[in-house]
Amino acid sequence: MATPTAKPIIDLSGKIGLVLGIANEHSIATGCAQRFADAGAHLVATYLNDAARPFVEPVTRALPCDLVLPCDVRVDGALESVFAAITSRYGRLDFLLHAVAFAPRDDLHARVTDCSAAGFALAMDVSCHSFIRCARLAEPLMTQGGALLSVSFYGAERVVAHYNMMGPVKAALESSVRYLAAELGPRHIRVNALSPGPIATRAASGIDQFDELLERAARAAPEHQRVSIEDVGTLAAFLASDAGARITGTIIPVDGGQHIMA
Ligand code: NAD
Repeated sequence: MATPTAKPIIDLSGKIGLVLGIANEHSIATGCAQRFADAGAHLVATYLNDAARPFVEPVTRALPCDLVLPCDVRVDGALESVFAAITSRYGRLDFLLHAVAFAPRDDLHARVTDCSAAGFALAMDVSCHSFIRCARLAEPLMTQGGALLSVSFYGAERVVAHYNMMGPVKAALESSVRYLAAELGPRHIRVNALSPGPIATRAASGIDQFDELLERAARAAPEHQRVSIEDVGTLAAFLASDAGARITGTIIPVDGGQHIMA
């Protein structure tokens, strides 16, 4: 039986976490950051650019975050500046959430057969290779071990109507999670991806007929319920905490069981 002084199982007090991917209050990164903050973490968050800032700042103010920094992963040196700021403020990092994805609209709406090389490369760079860069920059700061998290989707494994080129991009992200986990395991850095069911966010609105995808997911899921950003955040906080020890290299669905249905 728990004693009054027992720590909660998901305890991030004293831990420092970096959150990339807050666009507004509906972002998956917001649900995760809220759970990280609830569990006692010190947070650093990023915003894409000046246009995004007014939508991000109300979220980061409320959390709260220690540092809020600009970061467009396409800009040379932008990620490096974020890690430099973390190094000078704390000298270490305990966990990181990468909830960042982008695909050019025309390529995203085209068949995979027809997507352009440039669009595919850009989507891979922003949605996949930026996570690899995060891992490389985080490694020297995770001297006591750590946790790296990214966010994937079922469309990586199965063909989901209208998910198109993001399917192969997420498949590459999922494979990167496994390779990073194997390479960084000896340094006690765990690497995992969350795989939420569809959630109405800004990025999701770029997917053609997304409302239909939401409906279909809720119909197919055994509980017939939609996934919330808080559901995803709870798993993220668990994996970021010491409770997630020994869980690495995995892609964990938070989709109400939709993935088990034929
Ligand atoms: P969102 O629009 O709230 O977040 C996407 C984030 O990516 C934004 O904060 C945006 O600023 C950031 N981003 C895009 N290009 C960037 C760049 N060049 N540099 C830095 N940041 C950049 O949408 P979301 O649905 O919360 O997306 C978060 C993650 O969750 C994505 O990886 C997405 O593919 C994944 N995901 C979403 C769903 C869903 O249904 N919403 C389901 C499964 C996985």
